[in-house]
Amino acid sequence: MTPKVSAYLRDVAPATPCLVVDVDRVESNFRRLQAALPLARIYYAVKANPANPILARLVGLGSNFDAASFEEVQACLDNGADPAAISYGNTVKKESAIRAAHAAGVRMFAFDSEAELRKLARSAPGSRVYCRILVGNDGAEWPLSRKFGCEVEMAKELMVLAGELGLDPFGLSFHVGSQQTRTQAYEAAIGKVAMLFTDLKDAGVNIRMVNLGGGYPVRYRAEVPEIDAIGEAIMGAMTEHFGNALPELVIEPGRFLVADAGVVSAEVVLVSQKAKDDPVRWVYLDIGRFGGLAETEGEAIKYAFRTPHDGGAEGPVTIAGPTCDSTDTLYEKSNYRLPLALDCGDRVELLATGAYVTTYASQAFNGFRPLAEHYV
Ligand SMILES: *Cc1c(COP(=O)(O)O)cnc(C)c1O
Repeated sequence: MTPKVSAYLRDVAPATPCLVVDVDRVESNFRRLQAALPLARIYYAVKANPANPILARLVGLGSNFDAASFEEVQACLDNGADPAAISYGNTVKKESAIRAAHAAGVRMFAFDSEAELRKLARSAPGSRVYCRILVGNDGAEWPLSRKFGCEVEMAKELMVLAGELGLDPFGLSFHVGSQQTRTQAYEAAIGKVAMLFTDLKDAGVNIRMVNLGGGYPVRYRAEVPEIDAIGEAIMGAMTEHFGNALPELVIEPGRFLVADAGVVSAEVVLVSQKAKDDPVRWVYLDIGRFGGLAETEGEAIKYAFRTPHDGGAEGPVTIAGPTCDSTDTLYEKSNYRLPLALDCGDRVELLATGAYVTTYASQAFNGFRPLAEHYV
């Protein structure tokens, strides 16, 4: 938790549940990432947290943006982004949204299928396009499975077709899965993309860019590789496969830029047991899966907690949200322990919750209001 967030929670004591984000920390994360990968252009994955103060700060820092919908494109433009700095990175787009983005000046689009490529040729003629390929997501705590990307053989045919359709076959992309904890995932993906890149060059395609996607991890409960180590692994693999003929490099960080800038402040609604001698206490918070903590599904992302009783004796807990839905249980199997002194009415903090929380909050499940947000 940054000093600014901690001072805001202490002095303002906003109603819970709420997210408090230190926008200065977003800036320092941006600079750290830039220093770790100085040859890469940063396209912030807007979906991680599309709040205006974050977009405005990143525009000021010269960031580019990865948008997944026309609404996200519009949010970037509203905050002063140059349309030339926006990539429409979703491979699944309504044609009306492609048309709107093109009319707004966006000239870079992702695809992973022939049907999408033909939409782009019709509705964003002449644009730079890049094909997303399927790569392994092992090591990612929030993997993307096979939903996006196509096999290398298909990507090759589609990139040739892109040129024939009057589009600019600009590059290739991949995404190693979010909260990727293994640097080898990037190295393996770069090896795969490099072979295809060379094949396409040999086939006469004027390809110039490799987009390494997102996935850069954040410290929650467990240690993760430092961003400098990830940067070194990536540049090592790029040099190994491309020598000194490096293509333009793009990265699309989401979580890394915003997660540790934010803290969720919540209230303990109830501490109870299922039987008198049951050592496991159930701790119910006023935020849960539907209040924005969707990434606790499958106990995938394991947030760290702070309580007013830290340092005292602890015992095992199951942590749950406030709604009348059994899937609104956050952690049952991940060996969470909280202080025995924890009681109803205590305020607790969930650390590093600046990413993928506000956008996942439901409208009014059981009447609970969406998560309040404060940017300081
Ligand atoms: C979500 C997403 C990202 C950001 O991923 P992080 O793991 O948050 O860095 C980047 N690129 C694409 C295409 C995405 O869908």
